Amino acid sequence: MQALMQDWSLTLDKIFDHAARWHGDREVVTRSVEGPIVRATYAGLHRRAKQVSDGLKEMGIRPGDRVATMGWNSDRHLEVWYGTVGIGAVLHTLNPRLFPEQIVYIANHAEDTVLFADPACAPLLAEILPQCPTIKRVIFLDAEYEAWLEGRPADAAWGGFEESTAAGLCYTSGTTGNPKGVLYGHRSNYLHAMMTLQPDALNLSARDTVLLIVPMYHANAWGVMYSAPMVGAKLVLPGQKLDGASLHELMETEGVTYSAGVPTIWQMLLAHLKETGGKLTSLQRVTVGGAACPESIIRTLRDDYGVDVIQGWGMTETSPLATVSTPSPKVAALPFEQQLPYKLKQGRLICNLDLKLVDDAGNRLPHDGKTFGRLMIKGPTIASGYYGSEHNSAVDDEGFFDTGDVSTLDADGYMQITDRAKDVIKSGGEWISSIDVENIAVGHPKAALCAVLGVVHPKWDERPILLVQLEPGQTAGKQEFLDFLDGKIARWWMPDDVLFVDEIPLGPTGKIDKKLLRTRLTGYELPFDPGLKR
Ligand code: ADP
Repeated sequence: MQALMQDWSLTLDKIFDHAARWHGDREVVTRSVEGPIVRATYAGLHRRAKQVSDGLKEMGIRPGDRVATMGWNSDRHLEVWYGTVGIGAVLHTLNPRLFPEQIVYIANHAEDTVLFADPACAPLLAEILPQCPTIKRVIFLDAEYEAWLEGRPADAAWGGFEESTAAGLCYTSGTTGNPKGVLYGHRSNYLHAMMTLQPDALNLSARDTVLLIVPMYHANAWGVMYSAPMVGAKLVLPGQKLDGASLHELMETEGVTYSAGVPTIWQMLLAHLKETGGKLTSLQRVTVGGAACPESIIRTLRDDYGVDVIQGWGMTETSPLATVSTPSPKVAALPFEQQLPYKLKQGRLICNLDLKLVDDAGNRLPHDGKTFGRLMIKGPTIASGYYGSEHNSAVDDEGFFDTGDVSTLDADGYMQITDRAKDVIKSGGEWISSIDVENIAVGHPKAALCAVLGVVHPKWDERPILLVQLEPGQTAGKQEFLDFLDGKIARWWMPDDVLFVDEIPLGPTGKIDKKLLRTRLTGYELPFDPGLKR
C-alpha cells in the first residue's frame, strides 16, 4: 500500500529558500577579501544566489555542468554555491592548497566549465589555467564578480529535478594515487545536514552563531553550508585569515557559540590565547575532526576556557560526518576524568548509517574495544563509487564502503581510529596505534606537533619512532619525551627513537603529512639495540 503523504523531493534549493523565508534576517558575516568585515543576511544572499543562477544560465551552464570554485569561506562563495546547486549544476570546490599539477588533474578530470576564484588565487591560476582547456571563463570574487552580478534579475527558477541529482563534487587529496572525485547528491546532502543537526551530533540551532573554520573546499565543509541555513544559525565566515589572532577576534566580536575545525587549528588558537592572555567569552562547544584530537586540546579548552570539545569522524566519501563522541547516558554519568577516554574516541554512529569491522579477508570482527580491523561503512550519505569510474563499485558484497581506516569498536558502539591502514605500524605481528602515541606525546608542554612513524626493524619488522617539532625557543632531550610517555602507553609501544625536527609538515587540509615525512626520513636507520622486552 502506498502512503498518502505529499511528494517533496529533498533538493538543496529548498534549504536556502527556507533560510531566506523563515530566517531571512539572520546574519552571515564575512571577513572579506577586501579586508573589512561584511554583514549580509540569508534573505540578501538568497537574492544574490538567484542572480548567480541567472548569470550561469546566460553563460549556457546546464544541469549537470561542473561549476568550479577556488576560494576561502565567504559570502560570495556561498552565493555561488547555492546559485549553482539551485539550477541542478554541480558545484566543484577546488582546494587551492593542493600542488598545481594535482589541481590541473582534478579540473580536467571534472571537466569544469567556469571557475569562480578568490583574487589571491590569481598567480596560481595563471600557472594552471593554460593546462585546463575545459574552463572557458574565470570570474574573480571581487569587483569583477560584483560587476558581473549587478542588475541581474533575482528570479531564476530553482529545483524541479529529482532528489537523486548530483549537487557537489569534492576530490579527496589523494595521499595515495590520483585524487578521486566524490559526487554528492541533493538527497544525500539534505539527509546529511539533517543527520548532523541532531543533538548528539553537531546540535546546531537558530540561537547558535557558527564560525566555520573548516574550508568550504574541504570535505563538503562538514555539511555546514546546508545545516546552518537549515536551522537559521548565524554564520561567520573567516575568509583567508585563519591565524589565531584573526579567528579569536571574530569569535569575540561576533559572539560565536560553536565552531568546527581540524586539531592543528585549535592548537594554533590555543597557542595564541596563551601568549596574549585572551579569553573566549561566548564560545560553548567545538567539533574537532579530520584527524584525531589530542587530549591536551580537550583539557585546555575545558579547564581554561569552559569550552566542550566533541570529536567527530568522517571522510570526504562519507559526506563527511559519521560518528560523534557525544556521551552515551552511561558515559555522561561518569566524572570528567573517566569521560575523557571516551572523548578521545571518534564516537558513536549517527542514525541512518551502519558500521562493521573486518579483517583482511573480509570476516567480521568482534566489537570488544580491543580487536583492530578495517572500518567499513554503509548508508545514503556514503559514496558508492567515484566520479568518472562509476563502473568500479567502491563497496563490498554487503554494500559497505572501505574507509581505509583501522579501528576498534566497543560493546557500547564507541569507535576508535587507531590508524589509517597505510600508516599502521606492525611490530612483532601486533598493531601499534601511531595516533595514540602522537596524541599523548603532543601533550608534553614543550611539543608543538608530534608524529609517529614505523621504521623497518630486523627482528620486529617495524618499530615506531617519534618525531617532535618543539614550541618556538624550546630545547629538549630524547629521554624527556620517553619519560613523559612512560606509564601512559604499553611498554612495547615505546618509540625506539625520538627525533627533533624543525618542522612537521602539514598537508593541504591541515593534517600531518606523513608521506612527506617518510620521504624526508629516507636513509634513516634505527639506533642499535632498543632494549625491547615484550
Ligand atoms: P584527506 O585527509 O585524505 O584529504 P579526508 O578529509 O576525507 O581526506 O580525510 C578523512 C580521513 O581523516 C579519515 O579516513 C580518517 O583517517 C581521518 N580522520 C577524520 N576524522 C578523524 C578523527 N576524528 N580521528 C582520527 N582520524 C580522523
